[in-house]
Amino acid sequence: MHVHVNAAESVDGKLSTREREQVAISGPADFDRMDELRAGVDGVLVGVGTVLADDPGLTVKNDERRERRERDGAPPNPARVVADSRARTPPDAELLDDAAATYVLVSEDAAEADVAALSAAGATVITTGSGRVDLTAAFDRLKEYGVERLLVEGGGELIFSLFEADLVDRLTVYVGSVVIGGRDAPTLADGEGFTDPDSFPELSLTDVERVDDGVVLAYDA
Ligand code: NAP
Repeated sequence: MHVHVNAAESVDGKLSTREREQVAISGPADFDRMDELRAGVDGVLVGVGTVLADDPGLTVKNDERRERRERDGAPPNPARVVADSRARTPPDAELLDDAAATYVLVSEDAAEADVAALSAAGATVITTGSGRVDLTAAFDRLKEYGVERLLVEGGGELIFSLFEADLVDRLTVYVGSVVIGGRDAPTLADGEGFTDPDSFPELSLTDVERVDDGVVLAYDA
């Protein structure tokens, strides 16, 4: 599977405010770039923290891009995927609407009733790992459903785990010309953090592009 992480951060590396409220960090040209990224993948993954904070739909917004996907024999929108160990995704979440297939990755600790509610809402529930979702095993299961190209749209807890498990192939970051601040505001990679410098994931910078009033940094991982 090819895993591409894309996020927008402030100059000081924050994904949102300390209240975890969604903020517009990028502008229309970057939204369009992100829409093109979505149009080119089989699935879009977020953590349940992002679902609870932002309630995203994760669909392709541009009509021509959806038509292009259909001409290529793909569904108009990529599948939506949530990493959600305890099945906390609300059954009325936007990404459970009928615009695309939705996979919820849970762990063995998820309560049966919550899993049943998500299934009743139309999700395909994939169980891996105890405590937290085992992302490597979950991605193997997603491949069985035809998800070979995955775009990850955050947030910081999930992105850290993906780096920790060595699952990231490509990273693009929009750096907006704004300072958000706050020691408790989510950053691009939160989690426990790496302590041994030898374990820091090393990235290779492949491109720098000015977009809106910011820059997009592209890396191979
Ligand atoms: P997140 O990364 O979206 O979700 C984290 C949650 O995912 C964890 O708490 C965990 O909850 C679940 N999870 C399941 N398996 C996991 C695993 N193996 N590793 C890590 N997490 C796993 O949440 P977040 O870091 O709080 O980010 C949300 C914030 O980021 C919001 O404020 C949102 O607005 C912002 N955001 C910004 C951007 C941007 O591009 N600027 C993009 C997305 C989000 P369980 O243990 O319950 O499963």
